[in-house]
Amino acid sequence: MPNGHNIESLLKGGSTAWNKLRQAGKIPREHTGATLVHLFSANADLSGLELVGTEWEKCDLSKVSFRESDLSNAYFHGGRLQECDFRGCNLDGATFEQIKLVRCDFSGAKGLENLELQQVDLDRVIGLGGEEAGSAKSSSRPTSEEQGTDGHLPFRPQDLPASLISRGLKANSLAPAWVLDVPGLRLSVEVHPPTGASLEALYREAVRARLSGRSAFRDADAVGRAQAALRLGSRDSPFAALYLSEVGIEPVFRFSAARQLRTALKAEIEIDDPTAAVDPRTCAALSVLKLPQEAAEFLGEAKRRLCAAHLFTALLEAGFTPEHNWDEAVDSSERAQELAAMAGLGARADLEQAFRAFAVLPEEIRLRRLAYLAESVAHLEALARLPAGIEPAWLAGPEARECHEREMTFVESLRAKDIPDKVAPLALAELGVPIGHVPEDSDDDLFIHMRCAVCGREKLLIQSP
Ligand SMILES: [Zn+2]
Repeated sequence: MPNGHNIESLLKGGSTAWNKLRQAGKIPREHTGATLVHLFSANADLSGLELVGTEWEKCDLSKVSFRESDLSNAYFHGGRLQECDFRGCNLDGATFEQIKLVRCDFSGAKGLENLELQQVDLDRVIGLGGEEAGSAKSSSRPTSEEQGTDGHLPFRPQDLPASLISRGLKANSLAPAWVLDVPGLRLSVEVHPPTGASLEALYREAVRARLSGRSAFRDADAVGRAQAALRLGSRDSPFAALYLSEVGIEPVFRFSAARQLRTALKAEIEIDDPTAAVDPRTCAALSVLKLPQEAAEFLGEAKRRLCAAHLFTALLEAGFTPEHNWDEAVDSSERAQELAAMAGLGARADLEQAFRAFAVLPEEIRLRRLAYLAESVAHLEALARLPAGIEPAWLAGPEARECHEREMTFVESLRAKDIPDKVAPLALAELGVPIGHVPEDSDDDLFIHMRCAVCGREKLLIQSP
């Protein structure tokens, strides 16, 4: 072929471009003896071509059509052919060796009596004269997928983030401490023990104890520091809330930390990066403290980022890069297309830009982003499921809720019409509402009924929308 534009370089340019050239009649029929190595291609139209004696080394072909083409004496070695169309083609003297064929169709192919199959894994293949053709090797070998065929891993966007992260971390003997921030993912890796006496380290140590079936050490000094951090709404408040939860102690302050937690979450959500991490400790703390307001608003963005990080991690694991056929890989898989759509990066140019930015990050950072996003989304979903009105909105002056050095506990939230029946004396004392009357102009308000756990004092706060 002229100017070095052989079939291999043309196919590597992507099947869309290839198919266009074919339709325009710019591709010759004759490609005898061509060699294709590590080709990934989806939907390429190779029908009716002279592919006599071609060699296909470790290629991953999906929905490629060889219909009516001449593949006599062709040699396919390693890799995987999925949903490829071999109907009516000539396979006289051809060989398939150490290859996986999934849902390929050989109906009406010629020369099958001289087709050689060696260590071929047949999965729902049509037209090869029965499954005994695959008896050279057992026909279902999940381990061959696990290990990856011939050194490169299959592209599996359908795997859960936890599987991708576990596989990614297995290269190191001990995983980094941030793995303890995502206990919900149940990653099967050994973790470096945390060190230090910070609330963050103590929380991680408590998670590590729980995951290994021990109970966490309850340190009176740490409990006091944690309660104080919540009351002050300090930067440590997420670790404080989670440490208390791990050691089974009720937080005596919740609303005082609400503003800090919300501000921290909002700052991460506002970062202009389609795969930026969201700290699962912040989200888990909001969940533990039952502070659900606006979680649903943040959930959408967190989910979009998770889909992008999930897709990109699966692509990179399987060896696709922004320079290498990732676009076709996405098109070849329904799950990948779903992830790309949910990532909210509709235009391919945006998706590519995000992938480029993600691909240059160090691997551990990429895995941490995926882990943090997956764990955060689970917590934000739990928050979004809390019934409306369970707690009032983010409010100024959490000290209005304090009595006896703690926040009063939530009893119930009421509508104005419930006041005369349920809390009439309290409404009179606190808000001056006459007994037997419904508070005026309060149809949309929530009345939060609270009680001090120490002295029993009650209080009624109005929460206007
Ligand atoms: Zn009290």
